[in-house]
Amino acid sequence: MAIQERISLRAELVENGGWDGRIQVVRCAPIVDAFFIVSDRYVFFVDTLVNPSTARQMVALARPFLRGGRQAIAINTHADWDHTWGNQVFVGPGAELPALLIGNRKSVAIYEDPASKIYLREMQEKSPLSFSDVRLVMPTLLFDEKLFVYGGDLTLEIFATPGHTVDHCSVYIPEIRTLLVGDAAEAPFPTVREPGLFPQMIASLEHLTQMDAETTLYCHAPGVTTLDLVKENLAYFRNLEAACQNAIQRGLPHPLPEDIELPAALNCLFETVIPERLNPPGLDEFYKTAGHGSQIRMMLAYLKKHDK
Ligand SMILES: [Zn+2]
Repeated sequence: MAIQERISLRAELVENGGWDGRIQVVRCAPIVDAFFIVSDRYVFFVDTLVNPSTARQMVALARPFLRGGRQAIAINTHADWDHTWGNQVFVGPGAELPALLIGNRKSVAIYEDPASKIYLREMQEKSPLSFSDVRLVMPTLLFDEKLFVYGGDLTLEIFATPGHTVDHCSVYIPEIRTLLVGDAAEAPFPTVREPGLFPQMIASLEHLTQMDAETTLYCHAPGVTTLDLVKENLAYFRNLEAACQNAIQRGLPHPLPEDIELPAALNCLFETVIPERLNPPGLDEFYKTAGHGSQIRMMLAYLKKHDK
C-alpha cells in the first residue's frame, strides 16, 4: 500500500453500520481498520494501527470511555506493520496509555527475526514522516491457542487463526455474536505468506465459516459486516487448489518459466475466481496481478512439495 507522505495519516471513527454500539471502528484510510470495544471493565483495542500518531488518535477517540476505573487492554491480531506499529503507545517507556498487550506466542519469532527490523528501516527511509518514530514493541501477554478475557458484560475469546501469518488470531464476542477476523479474511482475498501455510489458511477459514456470527468485521474490507466474505475467501483458495491440482496432473514445465502467465495457463483468471462484487473499479492492482499470481505460485509449490 503506497503511503501518501505529503499528508499525515489520520485515524477516524466510522459511522456505525449496524454492529453493537459498544464496538467502534477506527479507520486509517485507505490502509486498515482497527477497533475499540467498550465493555464494563475494559476498553479493548483490537490492533494499534500503523504508527504512534494514528494510535494516539485512536486513544484520543477512546478517552471519554476510559473513566470510572475502566482500564485499557490492547490486542494484536498479528505482527504485521499495519496492525502493530502503534504498539509503543500502549507498552514501554513513554507509553501514553499503558496497557496489557495480548498477542499470539508465535509472534515472538517474528519480532526477533532481523527481517522485521530491516523492513522497518526500509519503510522509515521511504516514508520518514509516517514511520521515523516507530519502534518494534512485542506483546506482553502471550497465548498459544485461545484466551478468554472477561470484560463484565462482554467476553473476548481470542483464538489462533493462522494462515495469513503464523501468529494470526481472531476475536469472537459471544454475547453479541460478533466476530473480528483481522486479516484471516479480507476483500478480495487474504494472502498466504509462505506455501506451508495453505492448510492452516483453509482450516482457519473453515473454522470461521462455522461460527455463529451475526456480525463479522474485517481489517481490510470496509463496509462488509457479514460472514459471506469469509466463505468467498474459502472458495477462492479451494478454486486455486483445484486449478493447481489439475495443472499438476496435466503436467507443468519444471522449473516454471519466469514469464509464464499462470492465471491464464491454469484457467484461473482473477475475474473468474473472484466474485464481481469483490472486483470493483479501482481495486488495488496488486490483488489482480502480483497478489493473485503469488498465491497461485505458492499453491503450486505447496502441492508439488507434498505430492498432492
Ligand atoms: Zn493488514
